[in-house]
Amino acid sequence: MNNLNDEAIKAQYQVVIGLEIHIQLLTESKMFSSDRAEYGALPNTNLSPVTLACPGTLPRVNKKAFDYAIKLGLACGSTITDVNLFARKSYFYPDLPKGFQITQDTTPICRGGFVNIYSNEGVKKKIPLIRMHLEEDTGKSLHGIVEDITLLDYNRAGTPLLELVTAPALTTGEEAYQFLAEIRKLVRYLEICDGNMEEASLRCDANISVAPKESNRLGTRVEVKNMNSMRNVQLAIAYEIDRQIARLEAGEPVIAETRNFQAASGETVSLRAKESASEYRYFPEPDIPPIWVSQEWIARIRRTMPLLPSAYFKKFVGVYGLSDYTASVLTENKAFAILFDELCQHTTHYTAAANWLLGPVKGYLNELSLSLEDFPLTVDRFVALITLVESGMVSFSVAASQIFPLLLEQLDATPIALAEQLDLIQDSDEANLKALVEEVLAAYPDKVIAYKNGKSGLLAMFMGEIMKKSQGKANASLASKLLEEALR
Ligand code: ADP
Ligand code: MG
Repeated sequence: MNNLNDEAIKAQYQVVIGLEIHIQLLTESKMFSSDRAEYGALPNTNLSPVTLACPGTLPRVNKKAFDYAIKLGLACGSTITDVNLFARKSYFYPDLPKGFQITQDTTPICRGGFVNIYSNEGVKKKIPLIRMHLEEDTGKSLHGIVEDITLLDYNRAGTPLLELVTAPALTTGEEAYQFLAEIRKLVRYLEICDGNMEEASLRCDANISVAPKESNRLGTRVEVKNMNSMRNVQLAIAYEIDRQIARLEAGEPVIAETRNFQAASGETVSLRAKESASEYRYFPEPDIPPIWVSQEWIARIRRTMPLLPSAYFKKFVGVYGLSDYTASVLTENKAFAILFDELCQHTTHYTAAANWLLGPVKGYLNELSLSLEDFPLTVDRFVALITLVESGMVSFSVAASQIFPLLLEQLDATPIALAEQLDLIQDSDEANLKALVEEVLAAYPDKVIAYKNGKSGLLAMFMGEIMKKSQGKANASLASKLLEEALR
């Protein structure tokens, strides 16, 4: 049923996707108690009577969680709500100790706003947001550790979540992937969430519907859960689109339900009928007073906002003249963007600096699974290395393969001292190089004629001889320029 090869049939349908993204906020304590919110602690160690919902305990609101929500709201151009009320959303589940979740129902902290996504061709699309609201997470049910028994870990119960809800404005799995990539980048730049989908600190549910293009109503929505990577979100959506179209083509209706994505098979399977809001019996949380977010509070957060990826991108292209592609790769990661920007305060070889970062530096970090915070080169030494190459003293390949690794080990060595010590400084003396070129051409008169008759491949052979004669020390780009001049 899912082998929907017929693109013509698919083209008759309009696909609509909205995402609900749960962002686990990096606060030290939980949303409504002072229990620690850290990830990965021993099961059931971050618990107090509040987390366990013992009678008589009362919630207290985490201010930092509000700070973080306001940060993301400002980054997305959302309106920040001034009077914030909390509500109880009731449902019965073993990992929900109170039997209800405290959440924001009618007064989400952020309303509206948008996030831009970019296709591989660089085309921009503005995805409107409906809302972001603060709430608490549930505990974790662990199946399969002890046979036939479900274990419960309440450490996560009560940790703060910011739920972001998009308008139904996405149309493909790729767009959903790009949207998630932008959100992950944003929360990491803002340092409000570690953005790790594999550890579930960023979670995504996808709502998908299809309808014939000529109908002007949206189709029945299916919610898909349990996708623990951006790639799986994309795959689950692609599967679900095909499944829904196949049903409609077969004359069967799409059923409003929640489905589970199964990574092993790449399929979605029915989990339960979709709950309606009335089943949750939302009602105002009586134990939390309205939280008033003043203009001063918002202004205070605004002052702490870092430069966002889009601002770095604009600067890298506009001020430093990088290509869109290089700028987008550099802004993928905040630490890279900051380091590049700093290097550019000390050198005007902007493109060279970018190439060093995206080549040798990235390669070194990837190989050892390190992050840029662990990178031992100071800005001064890094700039000296860039200058060594740009001034023509050492070729980039020699600097990258021989000097760079030593600089990482010998923290007091300078690039130029290492180049001298290892006898790596190349010959950039024009007179010397010219003499070398003449010598080589004189040794191969027949090849020179062949070259002039069109065997342009001989250029590499001449260069090889020049490098050999100079014992590898000739400044290759200068020598190649002189060689071409001599042959003209
Ligand atoms: P609920 O809380 O019941 O899941 P929400 O109003 O929070 O409902 O909406 C959830 C998501 O569903 C939103 O991202 C929204 O854009 C999306 N959505 C709403 N209608 C449709 C539809 N017909 N097709 C696809 N997505 C939809
Ligand atoms: Mg929802």
